Amino acid sequence: MKNTLFLGAAVTGFALGLFLLERFFPLRRPDRPLAGRLFVNLVYAAFAFLTVALTVRPAAEAMLAWTDRNAFGLLNLPVIPVPIRPIAAFLLMDLTFYWWHRANHSIPLLWRFHNVHHIDPDLDVSTAFRFHFGELAFSSAFRVAQIALIGPSLGSFLLYETVFQANTLFHHSNLRLPIGIERLLNRALVTPRMHGIHHSQVMTETNSNYGSVLPWWDRLHRTLGLNVPQAHIVIGVPGYEQYEDNRLQATLLMPFRKQRDYWFGMPAMRSPLEKSGEPMVLAE
Ligand SMILES: [Zn+2]
Repeated sequence: MKNTLFLGAAVTGFALGLFLLERFFPLRRPDRPLAGRLFVNLVYAAFAFLTVALTVRPAAEAMLAWTDRNAFGLLNLPVIPVPIRPIAAFLLMDLTFYWWHRANHSIPLLWRFHNVHHIDPDLDVSTAFRFHFGELAFSSAFRVAQIALIGPSLGSFLLYETVFQANTLFHHSNLRLPIGIERLLNRALVTPRMHGIHHSQVMTETNSNYGSVLPWWDRLHRTLGLNVPQAHIVIGVPGYEQYEDNRLQATLLMPFRKQRDYWFGMPAMRSPLEKSGEPMVLAE
């Protein structure tokens, strides 16, 4: 409980800091008035905290206690040297999140819920809270499987969780960093320009950059897309661009309604943004 409160306070403080910074140094020009979006995203934030507190966290904690008691999971195998376990835990947690994000885009039932996150017509730190409680509830099943498979220690789990939450806020933010600094950060982190491309209305661009913390999984799975200037990106999902689509009630009901006909369903395999032999450079 103390951990949850501390993490909650840290997340809120970091989010507020990014929220202020992105007002002064915006990366992309907003398309819609902030107040309407902020209202929707803050309601989602409240739902998200509640859903996480009621489902995701208790499920994860119960599984962590169980794997610890029974020495279950890959990292508890005696052949794995103890000193490398924390590093392996961090890498495996992030890799499995990459797969989960891919699943959210390619499995129609999951996409119905994840789409609520993607139809936000602008991308900023408030979008990082905009996850339908249905998606979060599904993710508690994924978290249980993830912990059972990997078997991280409580310390490794909390470390990854903290970095994951912080970087989710950071990579959704609309903060303009000097390109040289962002390119440097992007060697080891998913950054705002990189994740902005994932929120583009262009199908090939959405089907790239699924990473949460480390950008290496996209490189490994050939889904990396960096050569897209931010000024060319239109944020959102085609077919869900009307003001009414982004009203609170419409977004809450959206997963239960007939999905509109647009580019969903196209294979999210190798990103066409990655041309063989060409070096990938994060565009301005
Ligand atoms: Zn996504």
